[in-house]
Amino acid sequence: MTTQSLETLAVHAGRGGLTGLGVHAPPIDLSSTYPLGALDEATASLEELAAGARSAASPVYGRLYNPTVARFEEALAEFEGTEDSVAFGSGMAAITASLLAARARRGGSHVVAVRPVYGTTDHLLGSSLLGMTVTWVPVGEVGAAIRPDTAVVVIETPGNPTLGLVDIADVVRQAGDVPVMVDSTFATPVLQRPCSLGAAMTLHSATKFLGGHGDVMAGVVACDNAWAVELRKVRLATGALLHPLGAYLLHRGLPTLPLRVKAAQAGAQHLAHRLAGHPAVQRVLYPGLDACDPQRLIGRQMSGPGTVVSFEVSGGLAAAARVMSAVRLITPAVSLGSTDTLIQHPAGLTHRVVSEEARTAGGITPGLLRLSVGLEDPEDLWRDLAAALDAGMMEAMGTTEEAMLVAV
Ligand SMILES: *Cc1c(COP(=O)(O)O)cnc(C)c1O
Repeated sequence: MTTQSLETLAVHAGRGGLTGLGVHAPPIDLSSTYPLGALDEATASLEELAAGARSAASPVYGRLYNPTVARFEEALAEFEGTEDSVAFGSGMAAITASLLAARARRGGSHVVAVRPVYGTTDHLLGSSLLGMTVTWVPVGEVGAAIRPDTAVVVIETPGNPTLGLVDIADVVRQAGDVPVMVDSTFATPVLQRPCSLGAAMTLHSATKFLGGHGDVMAGVVACDNAWAVELRKVRLATGALLHPLGAYLLHRGLPTLPLRVKAAQAGAQHLAHRLAGHPAVQRVLYPGLDACDPQRLIGRQMSGPGTVVSFEVSGGLAAAARVMSAVRLITPAVSLGSTDTLIQHPAGLTHRVVSEEARTAGGITPGLLRLSVGLEDPEDLWRDLAAALDAGMMEAMGTTEEAMLVAV
């Protein structure tokens, strides 16, 4: 399997046994419970699943096992090149489970993390909700921040929303025997496979690219068998399940994932260069621009720069708000990784929960906008964006003229 190309894997992953079932499309099993055979066998199945087994003779109950979800998990693990994966009802449920799994396995409740991360992840780590404490460090100080009670190191690369890249192998080296969890949502398994670089857990908000059509909320963690056992135990106890219909849709989307990511990436590259040349744009953040990838991780850690571009407009919050309300083809909406292009304002929306100091230190400025590029023709997108930027500049100038008249 590992010798197959990504495109082939994407099409065939998780399709084992379908011919034997006499079907071509994976079946959707919506059962919440399952008829049992002999009691002693049912009890044995229950015990195996409760101990984190991937499957057992009887599924027993929908919170223990679902074949449609298991099929997606198998496909995603093949895609990430890991032994297993465990799916959840959202990306945040997956992050919560991986933190709890790390605490259960390592016995400590301390986390070392590198900013920026997704706003709600930042909030979860900083809150006392899970009874864990976090030490935020610059990436070079991960090793120094490790304590005897450190359960896990958390990084996100590319980081949301400023798109900085973190050298995964370097963090793994610094972490020593402490497991590293990588939120790889922005990269997808098409562009990056953190577990192949030594990460213990690779996490995706499957709501984004894996779902890819803006109609599923899900999360998934790719890992080895031992971590999967721990994650399943957490999922069973907390109930953060992925619904089988969601799993079906995620699996259905996998065959086109490489095509979607590569097409959107080509659009993002085009728009990043266009944006960099527009007078209303102060800076463009995109890993494909040399200035944004000083360590040259593109081509080494990540096979391409991805599909998300952030940029800062002159004029701060008011200018950013004008661009968001002036686009017509592009949808002003949070989230990313859909077939259509979305624009949002991190400081006011996704990273609102992050403290203002951390936002400022991390470059999440009032004029920053994040664009998730979809599958539209890049020039159509540019016309929309350019018109919004031009309109914003004119409006700002008009406002200034009025202000000047009033002043006179
Ligand atoms: C969206 C997102 C999450 C959270 O995922 P949900 O599916 O919304 O719970 C976590 N990490 C990153 C990088 C994200 O973009």
